[in-house]
Amino acid sequence: MRSFKLCTCGAPLELREESTPQPTGTEVLLKVLAAGVCHSDLHLSEGYFDLGGGKRLSLADRGMKLPVTLGHENVGVVVAAGPQAHGVKIGARMLANPWIGCGACAVCLRGDDNLCRAMRSLGVFSNGGYADHMMVPHPRYLVDIGDLPAERAAPLACSGVTTYGALKKVATLKSEPTVIIGAGGLGLMCLALHGAMGGKAAIVVDIDPAKREAAKKAGAHTVIDGAVADASQQIIAATNGGAWAVIDLVGSSSSARLGIDSLIKGGKYIIVGLYGGDVLVSLPLVPMRALTIQGSYVGTVSELAELIDLVRRTGLPPVPVATRPLADVNAVLSELRAGKVIGRVVLTPA
Ligand SMILES: [Zn+2]
Ligand SMILES: [Zn+2]
Repeated sequence: MRSFKLCTCGAPLELREESTPQPTGTEVLLKVLAAGVCHSDLHLSEGYFDLGGGKRLSLADRGMKLPVTLGHENVGVVVAAGPQAHGVKIGARMLANPWIGCGACAVCLRGDDNLCRAMRSLGVFSNGGYADHMMVPHPRYLVDIGDLPAERAAPLACSGVTTYGALKKVATLKSEPTVIIGAGGLGLMCLALHGAMGGKAAIVVDIDPAKREAAKKAGAHTVIDGAVADASQQIIAATNGGAWAVIDLVGSSSSARLGIDSLIKGGKYIIVGLYGGDVLVSLPLVPMRALTIQGSYVGTVSELAELIDLVRRTGLPPVPVATRPLADVNAVLSELRAGKVIGRVVLTPA
């Protein structure tokens, strides 16, 4: 099999050829049909997240061992399964849930794999889908996509379930406008799912006019330039006195400042993006204004299944998807780093 592996942090991925692994136990081998390229692959390939104040969260310290094949938004066709991999059909087209925990702790057993302290996430801690084949440890991490196109279903494993998981934390989704900061691939996915879930109105904030235009076309009620001095006043005006919910898909110091400053009393700031940085919060204002600051990390196994069910009933999010050959992976990562990608790029091993 051919795969593109991260061998040295900060360096381009390297093409490796090796024999295709055979599944044992509960493992399922997929032939990869589509692998979405996610912004967090940039952080993964650099090997750290910026914690602000000059501090870094090293992925090596968190258990990432090199070389590893990146790619965590994958659809594949089942080509082989171990003797204990019950209920999988050879030839079925499956979306792989990459957010895999140890499978044995109390957190995993109650279905919150994404909060496990010993994660084995595909494309992060174990080999992912920038390859022609990939191994999934257990059929419980596979969701049948039916007749959905592979390249459109793949991003649901990360940008889809991440935004779905964040939107599910918004109690006022149907009754009040929701502010979405960031209109890249994640933002457009969030906007589409907000609509599919019956959200009242989406107010989308981005500093890039092309991305604001894309959000407007995709059905945003209002778009706001996050870089202008009065951005928070504009959000407060557009939300009739302040936002009940802000979903921050950027997660930078400035987006967090803007999100928290735009909340109404009782409002909730949900941070999803991993851009990096820090923010100073005046503590008395948190209780006095009854604010909630909540982190949201990907989604659970059951949230991904719910999401596929939602999409099969209401239609795929109309997020622009461009397909490129797997061999272009390093060029695509460079384009993403330069902010040149609108929507999602999905790699297809030829
Ligand atoms: Zn991702
Ligand atoms: Zn666990």
